[in-house]
Amino acid sequence: NHRGPRLPPWLKRPLPRGNGNNFTHNLLQDLRLETVCENARCPNRPECWAQRTATFMILGNVCTRPCSFCSVPKGTPQSVDEDEPERLAEACVRLGLRHVVITSVTRDDLPDGGAEHFVRCLEAVRRRLPHATLEVLTPDFQGHVAAIDRVIAARPHVFNHNLETVPRLYRVARGRAEYRRSLALLARVKEKDPAIFTKAGLMLGLGETLDEVLEVFADLRSIGCDIVTLGQYLAPTLHHSLPVARYLPPEEFDSIAQLARLLGFRHVVAGPFVRSSYHAAEMLPAHSA
Ligand code: SF4
Ligand code: SF4
Repeated sequence: NHRGPRLPPWLKRPLPRGNGNNFTHNLLQDLRLETVCENARCPNRPECWAQRTATFMILGNVCTRPCSFCSVPKGTPQSVDEDEPERLAEACVRLGLRHVVITSVTRDDLPDGGAEHFVRCLEAVRRRLPHATLEVLTPDFQGHVAAIDRVIAARPHVFNHNLETVPRLYRVARGRAEYRRSLALLARVKEKDPAIFTKAGLMLGLGETLDEVLEVFADLRSIGCDIVTLGQYLAPTLHHSLPVARYLPPEEFDSIAQLARLLGFRHVVAGPFVRSSYHAAEMLPAHSA
């Protein structure tokens, strides 16, 4: 079919039991919070929500970028919600999170790209849950160092920024993102504060070659990146999204992960369902896990 190859058996799995899913759903609705789990149609949502974990998406659910792999709504963004940091912190308390992952849509319309709002969210969570570890998954802030530095100074434990794909496929997949700019962001985090773990995610199955993936690994290692996540790209909608070029079997993820480990990453998480926030709590700096 036109959406690419047929779904292979390893991508079909049963729904988890229990009522955790409802609990998480109701709580998020009650506190009017957005998640990337829902907005990006993550295939792990039943599993993660059943375990009462979620990845918060701040700054609204309308993105200013046109990435063709992503189902987050695009258009005119919402105004910044000043109460969001407190509601988010409340959700973390009610969910009993020990590790909190905060991401956002890309807000190219805001002067600081939303950096200050990220910081307010981190501070609000830290006030309520001083022992939780904090991870941000940020946009590229258009490379503005003042914005990037603002988030670094708030000292999240993990600074995650997804490269998503190999440089050759940026134009078709990532709209206005730039590979070198994203690398420079991760490099800057390490330079400014080496204690922060840096993390990057890639989707496979967009038509990249193994050599291209290995070059990205080498680039990431050259800037001291600690963690890499590798997952299967799944076209999130039937229409208007980039087609899947190939479904990699689980064994292929294992062998690519092995190559990544040889290059010296501290943590490599790879598999068809791996997303950049999947089992994020298991990839923490040893001193705080
Ligand atoms: Fe949400 Fe991440 Fe789990 Fe997907 S993997 S459901 S985005 S927490
Ligand atoms: Fe999705 Fe791209 Fe916006 Fe990120 S920047 S939320 S990947 S459309």
